[in-house]
Amino acid sequence: MIVASRTGQSLLGAAALAIASMPFWASPWHMQLASTALVAALFALSLQVLAGATGLVSLAQAGFFGLGAYTIYLLGSPPIWITLPAAMAVAGVAALLIGPLALRTKGFFFLMSTLAFGQMLFFVFHDTPLGGGTDGQFIQRPAIGFLVSRSARPMVMLLLNLGVLTVVYASLCALMRTALGHALQGIRSNENRMAALGHDVQRLKLIAFVLAGALGGLAGHMSTLTDGFVSPDLLGWHRSAEALLMILLGGIGALHGPILGAFALTAIQEAGSLITDRPKLIEGVVFLLAVVFLRQGLAGLWTRRGPGTPIPRPVMGAESNRDRGGKPAILRAESVSRRFGGLLAVDQVSLTLEQGILHAVIGPNGAGKSTLVNLLSGEIPLTSGRVSLDGRDISADPAWKRGSLGIGRTFQRTNVMRDMTVLENARLAAQARASIGLLRSAATDDLVQTAWIALDRSGLSAMADATAGMLSHGQARLLEIAMAQAGNPSVLLLDEPLAGLGPEESLPVAALLRDLAKDHAVLLIEHDMDVVFAVADIVTVMVNGRVLARGTPAEIRGSADVRDAYLGHGI
Ligand code: ADP
Ligand code: MG
Repeated sequence: MIVASRTGQSLLGAAALAIASMPFWASPWHMQLASTALVAALFALSLQVLAGATGLVSLAQAGFFGLGAYTIYLLGSPPIWITLPAAMAVAGVAALLIGPLALRTKGFFFLMSTLAFGQMLFFVFHDTPLGGGTDGQFIQRPAIGFLVSRSARPMVMLLLNLGVLTVVYASLCALMRTALGHALQGIRSNENRMAALGHDVQRLKLIAFVLAGALGGLAGHMSTLTDGFVSPDLLGWHRSAEALLMILLGGIGALHGPILGAFALTAIQEAGSLITDRPKLIEGVVFLLAVVFLRQGLAGLWTRRGPGTPIPRPVMGAESNRDRGGKPAILRAESVSRRFGGLLAVDQVSLTLEQGILHAVIGPNGAGKSTLVNLLSGEIPLTSGRVSLDGRDISADPAWKRGSLGIGRTFQRTNVMRDMTVLENARLAAQARASIGLLRSAATDDLVQTAWIALDRSGLSAMADATAGMLSHGQARLLEIAMAQAGNPSVLLLDEPLAGLGPEESLPVAALLRDLAKDHAVLLIEHDMDVVFAVADIVTVMVNGRVLARGTPAEIRGSADVRDAYLGHGI
């Protein structure tokens, strides 16, 4: 997520000053209009915490907005210092209750489940006496303290809304720089990879969902304070959709996108109603044009995502992260099996990985090697058998848990956060296991240092500031390995790290593998027999999901069974 550049921040600051000076030159009607846009911006910004940061598109957001609004009505309009935190708390608690269920789903189903939850909230206020009827209610506005007269209200609300939006925006800018902010952006970029690195993705998503809900409640609260009116319509799903449109118009990749979008939409609506009595038609046309021609939204007009902000290398001792202390790790698989429908992809495989030993698994395509890695890393559940790490049964632990326990892995198909820089990728890997507070800066020296050491070891330091999606195939394979080791794992599962590399590229990687085996328990899947026989300590041969043979490279090379079953295939 792009946080506006220095120039961008200055422009936003200038716009805020212009709005703050409106009482000197604008009519109450214009101030009311600006207030409406500020509240809309706050609401869209609340949804951006979810949509922009984590990539989750929710249609429940208007439900939280409405809860914040109705809190004032239901509490009987006490002073603002009670209603404001109460509105955030009510909406936040609702999000905390809904979130765990909604977040069990993904993509289209997440959209639908949040739509359902949003509509349920709508019907609570529409179809029960709780909200005071379907037509809505005027509310006694809470005392704001310094609110003196009715005529001063547009001015006071304008300044109050501006103040709240500024505080929320500044806080979110700060949040995006924390470990939590970076992790959320990692989830948006590549959720499965984040889990494999050891990030508790569900928990992080829930934090974003609740934060978005509480801020949505705050927006609803400010809206009701401004308009003095509540109605079930505030919770309608179309309001969530409108906030999404603001985000798209302003730029889903930028934190300030929703603010630009809200003001642009308000301007379009006003201009539309001046020139026609069908302003919605104009709105529709503008959105079509924006979606087709302005994929980065308005924010994209002046912010280009070039290479990420370079992160300077901290000046620290050249200590390595090799020394983990403690006893050497042992990962044990006991008779693990995995069935896909009628196919037994992995059939009763047992294997032990020990620190200092490079254990290669070879076998023809479809032998079940990648499936075995997925079973060990927790990507897919076991059909039967047991996996243990240092004696602890981890068979039922999900992928992120195993990652956090020290099982690092690479994927057969490159699987990185493509829109982040190489260093950011490595740092997210380091962060997953660093057990640092979520609200600490993501750019702390020790995390950055750990990431640099991993890049050094993989020979990728020169590319640290390059966007991961732009790397050559060979470099991307190296980044996979760098990420796997940046988390300082004890076990490394490497699924064909050399696949697709030319001979000059594979040599340094083979040397790196040997080096990694010194301080990790390594499982290597590899097709190139020359590499396997050169680097492996033990070789397991798999065919049709079963272990055909196991032994030293020399034994495997000499085995007639293996030659017949595998090497004879000419691989
Ligand atoms: P290898 O990595 O040794 O080439 P895989 O572990 O990828 O083999 O695949 C083993 C077998 O399991 C193949 O027949 C493959 O088609 C099947 N398989 C792998 N993953 C799945 C899946 N998610 N669903 C169904 N079948 C799968
Ligand atoms: Mg494979």
